[in-house]
Amino acid sequence: MKLAIFCDFDDTITRINVTDTILERFADPSWREIQDDWLAGKLTAREVLEKQMPLITVRRAELDDFIDSVEVDPFFGEFVMHCAREHHALHILSDGFDYWIHRILRRALSAYDGSVKEIPVFACGLKLEQGRVAISFPYFPQGCVHGCATCKPALFDQLKQGATRSVVIGDGVSDLLLARNADLVLAKNGLREFCGREGIASRVIHDFRDVLRIVEALKENHND
Ligand SMILES: [Mg+2]
Ligand SMILES: [Zn+2]
Repeated sequence: MKLAIFCDFDDTITRINVTDTILERFADPSWREIQDDWLAGKLTAREVLEKQMPLITVRRAELDDFIDSVEVDPFFGEFVMHCAREHHALHILSDGFDYWIHRILRRALSAYDGSVKEIPVFACGLKLEQGRVAISFPYFPQGCVHGCATCKPALFDQLKQGATRSVVIGDGVSDLLLARNADLVLAKNGLREFCGREGIASRVIHDFRDVLRIVEALKENHND
C-alpha cells in the first residue's frame, strides 16, 4: 500500500501559525486590519500576504532566532521516519514561507539521517533583503480560482497519481479544499468543524502520535 500524504505546516507540524506570529512581532500593526479584511472574505489568501508581508522589518539574525524557537510536534520526526520506511510519499503543502519551513524542518529532523530530511515542501517563497521581505508564489504564479497562496488542490491532483490512497493532515480552511477529495482526512481544530459542517468524514487528531496510530492501522487492514 502506497499512500500519498498531504500535510499542512502551520498549526499542524508546528504548534503556532509561524507567519502570523512573525507578523505580530515584526510587522507594522496595520497587518491586523488586513487580516480582518481576509476574515471578512474581502481578500484572498494570496492578496492578504501580498499586502501584509511588506509591512515586516526585521534583521536576519533576529528572524532566525525567532524561527529557531518555534516548537514542532514531538512525534513528527517519528512519523516522517515511518513514511520513509513504508515508502509513503509525504508532501508538505503550505501557505507559509519556504525560508522558515526549511529551517524549522532541518532542526526538527536533525537527529534523523539521509532521505528523511528531504521532504518535498510546496510553499510560498521568501527572501530577506536588507531587513525587508520579498515574496513569491511558485505554486502557481498565475493564480487559481480559489485565490490560494499555494494552490493545494492543484498540487493534490498532480501528486496523488500512482498512490493507493490519499491522506490529508491539516487544521485550517486551506486544507478543507483538499479534504473534499481525499480518501482519509486527519483533522485538527478548525478543519474538524469545517468537515463536520460540510458532511466530510474525518478522523480527529491532536498530534502526530494520533496520525502515526491511524496510518499504521491502515497498513494492518490492507494487504497490498
Ligand atoms: Mg495550518
Ligand atoms: Zn487554489
